[in-house]
Amino acid sequence: MKKRIFTATLLAFGIVLIGLSCKKTDTASSTTTSTTSATTASSTTSTTSATTSSTTSSTTSGVPDVYKKVYGATSIYLQGDSMVVFTTVDTPDHKTPYYKGTQWETRKYEADNDPNFKVNPSVIEEQLITFKIPLHPKQATTSQQTPLGPMGISLNGVPFFNQYAAGRAALTNEKLSFDEYGGHPQMQGQYHYHVEPTWLTKNKGEDALLGFLLDGFPVYGPMENGKTISNSDLDSYHGHTSATTDYPNGIYHYHITSTDPYINGTGFYGTPGTVK
Ligand SMILES: [Zn+2]
Ligand SMILES: [Zn+2]
Repeated sequence: MKKRIFTATLLAFGIVLIGLSCKKTDTASSTTTSTTSATTASSTTSTTSATTSSTTSSTTSGVPDVYKKVYGATSIYLQGDSMVVFTTVDTPDHKTPYYKGTQWETRKYEADNDPNFKVNPSVIEEQLITFKIPLHPKQATTSQQTPLGPMGISLNGVPFFNQYAAGRAALTNEKLSFDEYGGHPQMQGQYHYHVEPTWLTKNKGEDALLGFLLDGFPVYGPMENGKTISNSDLDSYHGHTSATTDYPNGIYHYHITSTDPYINGTGFYGTPGTVK
């Protein structure tokens, strides 16, 4: 009888111990999770500054400060007095379901809980994209249509794509595969934004500079002077000319709006540079 009680006590003690250790593991893992997200959050901030400073180190002298806002670029340099060159590996600095199974999965994978979300079969692959854009952008005599594929570079080094899917079809179906920040990869794993990159507008502001199109003209968010910009406020290329924080003397610029065509309308306002 005594022995049985002892065994029972031992068992109970064991269960408590197991319970405790489970709890400990849970606590530990949840601590790890929150540490991870905290680290991610703070490392995002420090990555921003780290990238900015590393960008600065690979930036040749004379690059105007406004281009250094493209913190995700691997390098930024001038080609003569005519072109600004950006290189990017196109790995977004935010979490996305498209990091699943990649070398970045542990730090950057995040499931998308939107019930309407339809994941693409592709995942993010490192790219090497070189954008050469005019340093002194000018209005083109004849506007050219934007290419399928990269038509500009955003602040975190992710390319902007236009309002079309393959074959210049509408984005209706593609939109379902955009992650919470508005991006997805194409078949070669090249991640891109067709719509507002909400990671950037959340961090930099809805009225902030978000990048540049290939013609050298800047792209701004959906707000200006406290007002939401709609397509009817813009010309057919999806821009207008006014002073901005970065260009107090005024410049032609595009705005991203919440409805089609989102970033660019019927083509480039200026003469585009090249992208490879
Ligand atoms: Zn796409
Ligand atoms: Zn504007």
